[in-house]
Amino acid sequence: MKSLSVLSVTSELFPIIKTGGLADVAGTLPFALAREGVKVVSLLPGYPAVMRALKRIETIREYPDLFGGAARLVSATAHHVELFVLDAPHLYDRPGSPYLTPDGRDWPDNARRFAALGRIAADIGQGEVPGFIPDIVHAHDWQAGLAPAYLHYGDVPRPGTVMTIHNIAFQGVFPADLLYELGLPPGAFTMDGVEYYGQIGFLKAGLRLADRITTVSPTYAKEIQTPEGGMGLDGLLRSRSKDVFGILNGIDESVWDPSSDKALAATFTRDALGQRSVNKAALQTRLGLDEDPDTLLFGVVSRLSEQKGLDLVLAALPSLLGGRAQLALLGAGERMLEESFQAASIVYPGQVGCVLGYDEELAHLIQGGSDALLVPSRFEPCGLTQLCAMRYGSVPIVSRVGGLADTVIDANEMATASGVATGFQFSPVNLTGLLDAANRAKMLWSDREGWRQVQQNGMAAQVGWSGPARRYAKLYHSCLDET
Ligand code: ADP
Repeated sequence: MKSLSVLSVTSELFPIIKTGGLADVAGTLPFALAREGVKVVSLLPGYPAVMRALKRIETIREYPDLFGGAARLVSATAHHVELFVLDAPHLYDRPGSPYLTPDGRDWPDNARRFAALGRIAADIGQGEVPGFIPDIVHAHDWQAGLAPAYLHYGDVPRPGTVMTIHNIAFQGVFPADLLYELGLPPGAFTMDGVEYYGQIGFLKAGLRLADRITTVSPTYAKEIQTPEGGMGLDGLLRSRSKDVFGILNGIDESVWDPSSDKALAATFTRDALGQRSVNKAALQTRLGLDEDPDTLLFGVVSRLSEQKGLDLVLAALPSLLGGRAQLALLGAGERMLEESFQAASIVYPGQVGCVLGYDEELAHLIQGGSDALLVPSRFEPCGLTQLCAMRYGSVPIVSRVGGLADTVIDANEMATASGVATGFQFSPVNLTGLLDAANRAKMLWSDREGWRQVQQNGMAAQVGWSGPARRYAKLYHSCLDET
């Protein structure tokens, strides 16, 4: 296949700036695509963490007034990755997360902040950066959603465009009166343009105007085309269903490698699982749990939000912890959930331990030291933690939604007898479903041979990026064949 170049437009990129799975995808997919003959350069907003990480900065273009202030586009490297960064201090040089103020509110000028990202992506796509003219502009999530729109309404030839939905719950909807300020033509404010229920929809714009739409699992690609899963965008997605593709995410197998992971107390392999017990003991100590190799230790690594269904874990605790089982939780997010898990660690001393916050290393130890990972999401576009769990020999217990349905093979009788099960699924997503799956896990736990088989099946599963990268490369080519 002919080699291709792609501009990946993203608001997060691991390891430079991360709030969730998008960063993992944006950080890893480019490497996997390079092996498919696709050169990817990412465009990122110049948040403080990004600017600090840059080396070999070179100014490519200056913008005297980009939505209210001076800005420049720089090329640079960070962590050996080639990047474009939009250095616009009036938009990005501030504390807090990429999207929220330090006290947890959306930045009031998010429309301008991310329109700027889309605007500059379109400039690059229109060939304004000498030496890098992308064949494809690939926009990730609503923050990049205006890139396909600016390209569509530009009056010069444009590259192919792909819009990827990592989570349809986040749509970037802003007042209609910003249209002029954002540099969109009046004609863009229609159902076939950026208009979305009387406002401007950034994700909607990308979904309407990009050549191809992808999301991060085949099941989620179907779910978002239903009224229950589409969150207002299902009609549009159904009307474009021939352009909608579900491509599973992978994980970075060099970052998530139990045979060399420095965050673990002991490394281990599929054929030498015994060493996992060292991690279990380390995890129990770290989280103040009773040190007991024989008790079933459930793990959670998650944003604490309604989507992730962790209120069900709280409700399940009295049963879940039966038989001296334990729970090790790492998470951050909604205050109610944080406080409830904190309280649970007091009510169940030695059995429930939690760390509230974001801790990359502890996330690895939980994957390498827990026996089973709970992922009871109400919806889950792909989910990465269940993939990490499988690779680390922690048996995932997941709700049967989105990418969780696509990646975990339930240990039902047939799958167990055939030796292919990799975890437990439950449906519907409610307390009974979760408890039923947890009880099935407890039963299997008492049959250590059977448990080990499921662990080893998971560890052999293909959770890397090579398959997905091939699919993206094919999609880019198909997109170009048409434009
Ligand atoms: P989402 O993007 O919806 O948060 P994913 O499962 O797709 O969920 O990706 C979550 C990523 O963030 C995984 O890499 C997971 O290990 C990581 N993660 C989530 N919460 C934490 C936390 N509190 N500390 C460290 N890593 C976390």
